[in-house]
Amino acid sequence: MIQSAEGPSPLEENLRTLSDSIGGRITGSPAGARAASWAVEALGKAGVDSVHTEKFTIAAGWSEGRTRVEVLGPVPFPVRVTAGGWSPPTPEGGITANLLDVQAGSEADFTRAGAAVKGTIVLVHSTPLVTWEDLDREYDVQAGVIVRARAAGATAIFWMSTRPNLLLYRHTTTPDGGIEALPQAIVAREDAERMARFLAAGQKVRVHFEMPNHVSGPVESENVVGEIRGHEKPDEFVVLGAHLDSWDLGTGALDNGCNVAMVIDAARVIHQSGNLPRRSIRFVLFTGEEEGELGSRAYAHAHRAELDRMIAAVIFDSGVGRVTGFNVDGRKDYLPELRDALEPLKAIGPMDYTFDAAGDTDDLDFMLEGVPALVANQDVANYMINYHAASDTFDKVDFTELKKNVAIAAITAYALADAPVRLGRRQSRAEIEQVLKDTGLEATLKSEGSWAAWEKGERGRQP
Ligand SMILES: [Zn+2]
Repeated sequence: MIQSAEGPSPLEENLRTLSDSIGGRITGSPAGARAASWAVEALGKAGVDSVHTEKFTIAAGWSEGRTRVEVLGPVPFPVRVTAGGWSPPTPEGGITANLLDVQAGSEADFTRAGAAVKGTIVLVHSTPLVTWEDLDREYDVQAGVIVRARAAGATAIFWMSTRPNLLLYRHTTTPDGGIEALPQAIVAREDAERMARFLAAGQKVRVHFEMPNHVSGPVESENVVGEIRGHEKPDEFVVLGAHLDSWDLGTGALDNGCNVAMVIDAARVIHQSGNLPRRSIRFVLFTGEEEGELGSRAYAHAHRAELDRMIAAVIFDSGVGRVTGFNVDGRKDYLPELRDALEPLKAIGPMDYTFDAAGDTDDLDFMLEGVPALVANQDVANYMINYHAASDTFDKVDFTELKKNVAIAAITAYALADAPVRLGRRQSRAEIEQVLKDTGLEATLKSEGSWAAWEKGERGRQP
């Protein structure tokens, strides 16, 4: 499998088609639909026994219009700006308002600004994004800033870009694919700093802001599912997954096109090995990940009846950095079996296991169902600087590294599907709750507004 993964393969051509020809593929968009049709074909060519799509509905469709900021004073200057994902449009005719610097947008910052916030566009500073911890923090603070800005009567939010050199990107903060509460845009770091310097010098910055985003009602999207049937217990299965949707300023090559191409090529590698695993392997390309893991959530929900027979979900969602091992979402109970099963990976490099639970990609809903959920831990490599940005394009992908990851993904999925003894077992709701507490994921889900769905039994294992 290692030789097959590292030798000549359709991997590069597959990713070139997905990122260059199909391009950015927002959930529910025409490009998203083209990506799903392409993935069905590519998985078929890889040699899976069957492939189909599974539709689900997301709360709203979204695309950016012609976003524009004009500085009316103290002096006109160009502002590079893009819409936040799933941001509502500005009202008809746009917003003409003064800018107010609220620093980091903390509780204290808004208290200090007081009544002055009303009717303004607030400018929120950021620190440069470098590490995984920076990224977690960025998501953690944003929801709170939006609540405070709205409560204080701001008309819109300008987020200072976390990346230098005029780089723009976008993402969402709502947990359920809903439209954000306030119009918000990402402003190029250099332009935002210039605005902030005028304000610090006591000069009023007045802008005209137009952001005619297109928002629709509920739209359909589809997960793509290929399967290699096991020869002994075909009804038991391992999921190897990556998300097919992406943002659209770039072409979603690192996030997560490279891992879509990797999952497809892992199917080819397993098929061409001529060895059938004991259990089945499902190669699942989820959509709706960027709007709150909506595709994997829909998948877990639709397949509830067979989750007792699901061995594990193995998810890749961190670009092309070297795989250092897997995060097992707080579960130490199956570590001995996991180490045994993944022993063959030592031929590629050392593998380490971590036990935190971030719940920020397609593992979350499987973990909430009590199914072992593994997420590949990867070096940052060039992931952060290009994260959700206009620069997330094909030329950033290191194929030597990606081919190694194909081998790791293929061996991992095969080994878990073929292990004589199944990996761990499905946890009860009480056990899952304990893991949520121990890992701090409970607090995270509460702060991002996802806890109610778990409590009501809409999401995760039924009481
Ligand atoms: Zn991703």
